[in-house]
Amino acid sequence: MPSIFIAALVFACLCGISITVGYHRLFSHRTFEAAWPVKLFLLVFGAAAFQNSLLKWGSDHRVHHKFCDTEKDPYNINRGFFWAHMGWVMFREPSKFKDQFPMSRDLLKDELVVWQHKYYLPIAVLVGIVLPGLVGYLLGSALGGFAVIGFARIVAVHHSTFLINSLCHVLGAKTYSDEHTAKDSPIMALFTFGEGYHNFHHTFQADYRNGVKWYHFDPSKWAIWSLSKVGMAKKLKRVPETTIRNARIKMEQKRFAASGAANLISNQG
Ligand SMILES: [Zn+2]
Ligand SMILES: [Zn+2]
Repeated sequence: MPSIFIAALVFACLCGISITVGYHRLFSHRTFEAAWPVKLFLLVFGAAAFQNSLLKWGSDHRVHHKFCDTEKDPYNINRGFFWAHMGWVMFREPSKFKDQFPMSRDLLKDELVVWQHKYYLPIAVLVGIVLPGLVGYLLGSALGGFAVIGFARIVAVHHSTFLINSLCHVLGAKTYSDEHTAKDSPIMALFTFGEGYHNFHHTFQADYRNGVKWYHFDPSKWAIWSLSKVGMAKKLKRVPETTIRNARIKMEQKRFAASGAANLISNQG
């Protein structure tokens, strides 16, 4: 039985990384380019996470960035924690956009993306439910495979992704910008394959890293970097170091000025 839990953990990592590296950083933000076998793998295991086709996911995500914290933001944190976490999935209204995939025209040009969208459900069921059952059978319990490697793993990876839209807009520091609610949290990074450095990400979304310092826990960044070292990924985008430093200093100055003003008021009082 422990082998089923280990297999579930491996599956969770494969699906979770496919969402963060593939759905998010590769396709939605185009922070690097990947060879087709990598894209195929990320699209297949991304589908197995049961978070919709990449076309739908990426479209929602780009809207989230462009209209962050407003009415048009699909997971607007100002509508409450539950809404941003999973309420938007359960109770979302019809799209406010006429176009089915606003801002995702470039993705429609990718044959693999269109293929995944067309066959999303069969791929998701085959890789996300049937394969776990098969792995469970080989490990001694098909039912355990369906229940743990399949369904429990789907729920766990769902919540890992949902946390990025909810808690990552609530907990942590505004290191680089206060123009949006996204926050940086090393603790959240542990549960989200490195996406917890969300203030950095919302401020510099073209960068393939979320944890920008080498010691920041960001397995998605390490996976992309490793792929580039074996020739499977290229053109990794990095925001210039000076731009990042200037943004951080500007925020530190703002905080310093705000604490100085607060001290002045309390001294006068
Ligand atoms: Zn993003
Ligand atoms: Zn966000």
